[in-house]
Amino acid sequence: MANVNTGDSKAPVRTVRRIQFGILSPEEIRRMSVTEGGIRFPEVYEGGRPKLGGLMDPRQGVVDRGSRCQTCAGSMTECPGHFGHLDLAKPVYHPGFLVKTIKVTTRACQTNVAVASLVLRPKKKKR
Ligand SMILES: [Zn+2]
Repeated sequence: MANVNTGDSKAPVRTVRRIQFGILSPEEIRRMSVTEGGIRFPEVYEGGRPKLGGLMDPRQGVVDRGSRCQTCAGSMTECPGHFGHLDLAKPVYHPGFLVKTIKVTTRACQTNVAVASLVLRPKKKKR
């Protein structure tokens, strides 16, 4: 496919082998996260207090007026909140970016046009 002139650009046309894009890489998210090791437990509270490593990990901020943030020591009005992370078993598409992702990838690869039509096409009901 090299050396194909599209008329739009003098740059050589190459076969796209791989595309990766996102807001932040998994490594960047882990590095910025205050929940070292990630959120590992589905429980919110343990013994009446937010559970460390749970969905409301106290390192992410304050959830009640009498507590201090475990990251910045701020009160409920002082702490801006801090983000944590979950390590998922497999990569997933962010639903908020799915339509945009499909638009970008279908312009880069005809294979993705077929995949996108399968993803976006509503399932037909069996009769
Ligand atoms: Zn804080």
